[in-house]
Amino acid sequence: MSTTLVTGGTVVNATGTAQADVLVDGETIAAVLAPGSRLLGTDLKATVDQVVDATGRYVIPGGIDAHTHMQMPFGGTEASDTFETGTRAAAWGGTTSIIDFAIQRYGERVEDGLAAWHEKAAGQCAVDYGFHQIVGGVDEFSLKAMDSLVDEGITSFKLFMAYPGVFYSDDAQILRAMQKSRETGLLTMMHAENGPAIDVLAEQLYNAGKTTPFFHGIARAWQLEEEATHRAIMLADLTGAPLYVVHVSAKQAVEQLAAARDRGQNVFGETCPQYLYLSLEDQLGATSEEWGDLEGAKWVCSTPLRSRADGHQDAMWRALRTNDLQTVSTDHCPFCMKGQKDMGAGDFRAIPNGIGSIEHRVDLLYQGVVTGEITLSRWVELISTTPARMFGLYGRKGVVQPGADADLVVYDPAGHTSIGLGKSHHMNMDYSAWEGYEIDGHVDWVMSRGSVLVDESGYVGSKTHGKFLKRDLTQYLV
Ligand SMILES: [Zn+2]
Repeated sequence: MSTTLVTGGTVVNATGTAQADVLVDGETIAAVLAPGSRLLGTDLKATVDQVVDATGRYVIPGGIDAHTHMQMPFGGTEASDTFETGTRAAAWGGTTSIIDFAIQRYGERVEDGLAAWHEKAAGQCAVDYGFHQIVGGVDEFSLKAMDSLVDEGITSFKLFMAYPGVFYSDDAQILRAMQKSRETGLLTMMHAENGPAIDVLAEQLYNAGKTTPFFHGIARAWQLEEEATHRAIMLADLTGAPLYVVHVSAKQAVEQLAAARDRGQNVFGETCPQYLYLSLEDQLGATSEEWGDLEGAKWVCSTPLRSRADGHQDAMWRALRTNDLQTVSTDHCPFCMKGQKDMGAGDFRAIPNGIGSIEHRVDLLYQGVVTGEITLSRWVELISTTPARMFGLYGRKGVVQPGADADLVVYDPAGHTSIGLGKSHHMNMDYSAWEGYEIDGHVDWVMSRGSVLVDESGYVGSKTHGKFLKRDLTQYLV
């Protein structure tokens, strides 16, 4: 068991900031002390195994990305990051825990889906990992299987109002699953878009010769996000199920969430970096020498990028300030252009949906501090503390305090990061959705449960370090 003293930094928690030294003993934080403290008359610096000088820098709890899809099968291919490459990229970016999605498809058993994801992840993760359970076929068997999820440490499950024929649940299925949510305490996560209507629009656009990636966003109109969000909220209200709406991108969907919260309903919302920074206009007319008008496929994700002229991005930032949205996850679901996104040449419907950002979330959200959109503490709350509480990890994760896991990041506000710039990232992708983004701040040093993952020499972690996180029920409900 080794000891580390992180000294001279500014410790930032969701509750505030303080000049403090952090003493790590083994896998946990032993003490948060006034700078230069002596313990029982001893100079700590002289007694610990290693000293990390964080002078002039922030010491924050490791990031928690509560929405990732490593090696997820989609549209005849598979997300290009494995648990190994994806969690290594997470570590590079200051994220020390992920919650990925185990998948049950229609006709499959929930237990088998979960076992398959355990198999994929075990011994392959640089950082700690948990699972949500996707229930892609709500029937008597999957409903029964949901009874034992809490005991397995899987305290949240996800339904889809989109993707008919793949993951789609109709209203009757949603109602039954939400009744189960109410009964078990499982948090219902919802992909809220009206899939059947989207499919009609997408087909009509395709038949009219509108086949480029831009039309992906036109087919997935904001009205269909607002409508589905409202429907999910009403079904949750009826059943008493707590609801967490994933990857919110339409300002009208935020309005629905805010209204429900104002009525006292247990409804939460997540957005993603792409909905804060990127827009449908960026996709319109996107073309390159290499890819022609398929270039826009780089930004095909669902929910889609929204119009900047309509103010969706500003609305997301505003909602993060006012707590109408509570978390920022990545929905990390990377695909390469070559051999994956290019399957949709000539038909936007065949482009695998997803953007890879797991390495950049902590940095991208820090830009909100730089520009004055959010405070330092709110930054930490969004990237770590709230995801911890939302998904039953708080105390162990999400905070720099004695007894918590020693998941720490030393962040340099005076540093600089080129997050696009060719293939300088560590995600297994042949492009970056963030090409050209030069930003303030830098992840200098990362520790997970007392083990250093990233230091000045680069990545020094191991794929056998990450452990499965058995999660408690959401800590937002009594
Ligand atoms: Zn997702």
